[in-house]
Amino acid sequence: MTSLAIGVDLGGTNLRAAVVDTSSGTVLASVRADTPIHQGPPAIIDLIVELVQKVMTESGVTSVSLSAAGIGMPGLVDVERGMVILLPNIPGDWSQIPLGQILNQRLGLSVRLINDARAITLAEWTNGAGQGTDSMACYAIGTGIGGGVVVGGRLHLGSGVAAGELGHQIVELNGLRCNCGGRGCLEMYASGPAIAARGVQAVIQRQSMSIAVLAENDLNRVTASTVFQAAREGDPCARAILEEVGTYIGIAVSNTIHTLNPQRVVFGGGVMAAGELLMAPIRRTVREHVFLVPVQRVELVMAQLGDNAGLIGAAAWAQSKAGPVKAA
Ligand code: ADP
Ligand code: MG
Ligand code: ZN
Repeated sequence: MTSLAIGVDLGGTNLRAAVVDTSSGTVLASVRADTPIHQGPPAIIDLIVELVQKVMTESGVTSVSLSAAGIGMPGLVDVERGMVILLPNIPGDWSQIPLGQILNQRLGLSVRLINDARAITLAEWTNGAGQGTDSMACYAIGTGIGGGVVVGGRLHLGSGVAAGELGHQIVELNGLRCNCGGRGCLEMYASGPAIAARGVQAVIQRQSMSIAVLAENDLNRVTASTVFQAAREGDPCARAILEEVGTYIGIAVSNTIHTLNPQRVVFGGGVMAAGELLMAPIRRTVREHVFLVPVQRVELVMAQLGDNAGLIGAAAWAQSKAGPVKAA
């Protein structure tokens, strides 16, 4: 069977499609568009079809030379039936739509759905920072916080499909309400929007001149990147915010280490562009909280595949499962 497959990454901001060589884990061609997040599921489905057709045309690849298409979805999906269970960050009622079947028919390809962060985990494990490990955890820290776990040399999805929801570990008793319905989840304290909210608060409370200046005193322009930039410039308030964010992540990672005893923990997603500014407090926190596992043997590393990880992982997932989608 051909090793070429389509990978799609549906995000709250970007919708991307690629032709992936799954044997080497390389993206041969890719296209992107803004996700029409408020136009409803049909518009998003149309755009997925359009982008897949566009990337096939641009790269001269026809459906006969492709094994399958994998769609990375920012939420919980029923991987067997090709249905959405919960998409907290994309409005619309997706739960009754046989997405896998629809895309299967419209693309003329075997289509498989997978959670976007599980796709990133799969890609980093097979072709990126997780290579060679038998057990790893992956944190994808972006608009939300996703994750995935590899246990015993396999991507572990659990008895449902929610294993690896590392962003919904509870780090605060009686904490903030989360989009998942719970409270005190890591996502509420360490995602990009959570960091931006701390930056906005710092400006309003006049605790950070640097953030205010970088955002030209416009609160709408304060993003996670603004806070990181201020920290790089030495702003004490921005540094304190990132210390705290890193501490929250480190607490969650400590719990993950106690649960899985993984060889390696991989950190990716837009927010991790901050690199050491976050890795340093994460490492410190883990050293302070993990004693039952020899902590120096758990490798805490940055992801390697960047924006391509979700595309590569979705394609690899579909390739590994190629076959007809079960009737809904
Ligand atoms: P998505 O969850 O939509 O897939 P990404 O993984 O691309 O998102 O991450 C987007 C988030 O990362 C946004 O909240 C953005 O503010 C933040 N971000 C993007 N670039 C940087 C950067 N250089 N430094 C810190 N945060 C960043
Ligand atoms: Mg994403
Ligand atoms: Zn949650």
